[in-house]
Amino acid sequence: MRGTPRGQLKQVVAIYPGSFDPPTNGHLDLIERGSKLFGKLIVAILRNPEKDPLFSLDERLAMLDQLTRRFDNVRVTTFGGLLVDFARQVNAHAVLRGIRAISDYEYELQMALMNRKLEPEVETVFLPAAEVYSYISSRIVKDVARLGGQVHGLVPPLVEKELRLKLQVGEAPRSRRTKARNK
Ligand code: ADP
Repeated sequence: MRGTPRGQLKQVVAIYPGSFDPPTNGHLDLIERGSKLFGKLIVAILRNPEKDPLFSLDERLAMLDQLTRRFDNVRVTTFGGLLVDFARQVNAHAVLRGIRAISDYEYELQMALMNRKLEPEVETVFLPAAEVYSYISSRIVKDVARLGGQVHGLVPPLVEKELRLKLQVGEAPRSRRTKARNK
């Protein structure tokens, strides 16, 4: 991978890896900012047989495909195995990760250092989460949705709809709020 230009971020292909189960507005904010920084951004959904996801790989791929259609330089795919091997395959020299809190940083730093040890030509770039999305994780969104809570504004409308279908929950919380207001 030596000899590839690294100075200009616009010439760099970056990977944004994750589980995206499901994609949230925090993820999309990072994708939008990453697409402006890098020449090309590959959103890569990890194929992880150990995790028991709510949405299948194909479902997550379809959602992210739709959600990123408006970005010309973003493409969505899946990968398995070592991230650095995938980076070599697609000629990527950067890995984009989001940092929500200090608790994210410890794990992310460990991953970044290990990846650099495995492939020094791939740099990890951390972007701080947008303040408004910094408390959002896929897990908390799933937990709230499972219990019938409102996830409007935390995930794109498409994901909101898919969550309702998957979990067979209605729009009860909003109508409950309206009823309370009308009392
Ligand atoms: P993981 O399964 O490793 O937690 P995720 O799919 O949840 O991966 O997230 C992928 C990347 O997106 C991680 O770098 C994570 O820190 C980042 N991320 C997740 N949620 C947010 C958010 N609300 N704002 C910014 N970055 C986020």
